Amino acid sequence: MKKAAVIGFPISHSWSPIIHNYWLKECNLPGEYEKIEVKPADLKTFIADKKNDNEFAGLNVTIPHKESVAKICDQLSENAKKLQAVNLVTFKNNIAYGYNTDGDGFLESLKETFPEIDISKLKIAIFGAGGAAKSIALSLSEHKPKKISVFNRNLDRAVELVKKLKISAEPLHASELKNAERSYDLLINATPLGMTSVNNLDTFDFKNIKGLNFFADIVYNPEKTKNMFLAEKQNIKTMGGLGMLLHQAVPAFETFYGKKPNVSVGLRGHIAEHILRVGK
Ligand code: NAP
Repeated sequence: MKKAAVIGFPISHSWSPIIHNYWLKECNLPGEYEKIEVKPADLKTFIADKKNDNEFAGLNVTIPHKESVAKICDQLSENAKKLQAVNLVTFKNNIAYGYNTDGDGFLESLKETFPEIDISKLKIAIFGAGGAAKSIALSLSEHKPKKISVFNRNLDRAVELVKKLKISAEPLHASELKNAERSYDLLINATPLGMTSVNNLDTFDFKNIKGLNFFADIVYNPEKTKNMFLAEKQNIKTMGGLGMLLHQAVPAFETFYGKKPNVSVGLRGHIAEHILRVGK
């Protein structure tokens, strides 16, 4: 029986077990998926132990271990190398392979929600320059959009993102988003703004962002954020973060248990119920 787990510190908040255990049941597969709290000081030994455990297929990795695990893996995928961050580790013949599936999870969700979108024709504004923004910027840049601008309140971090990824994108201060000279087709919120646990009432001023047809929020708790409601009032099409969360898990499940799972209506409903239970 194949085993896998998500590791982080702390880890109690992780929803990965709910997703993977739903799929194990749905696909009628023998397997186990658990969450394991691993202290930063124990990370290296933990990975070495699991790498040599034949029952263990791999791990998902969350805060604060994504960068450290990238340094510990024996081999990295191209995008994990560029991002220097890993959210999926698989073990094969005692070798640890590191991947990053966040950006492609976002892309899958975008294509599923807006099948009419042709990324190569878009002018894209990414709000945020943290880990999630970085992986999204890298995946989008592979489709050569007309333009990518990365907005952040700490401008240095946006400059660093563009420099490190070596992508064609423009780093800008967050306040520039409202600059009347700019226009974008798609705005992506890649910050915690709007998240239930974040005590911050800031919202986007959609009326003053020119040209917007699409707004994608990567916050998934609540499932529909205040920014999504505000965007819809301006006739902007919206997408929430739940699709990204579910799609980034697909390659992990497939490599752990050998079957590609579906991001089904049933799974979405199951997770949405969980959001309602915990998201108060
Ligand atoms: P991170 O690395 O800590 O980066 C946080 C980013 O948000 C930074 O750019 C930061 O700006 C910005 N920020 C934080 N608070 C802000 C505020 N009050 N006003 C303006 N900007 C603010 O975090 P991350 O891993 O990228 O995650 C960002 C969000 O995405 C989190 O809410 C996370 O839950 C969500 N997420 C969702 C998925 C999914 O599957 N849907 C996946 C990953 C992450 P500064 O640099 O100026 O501090």
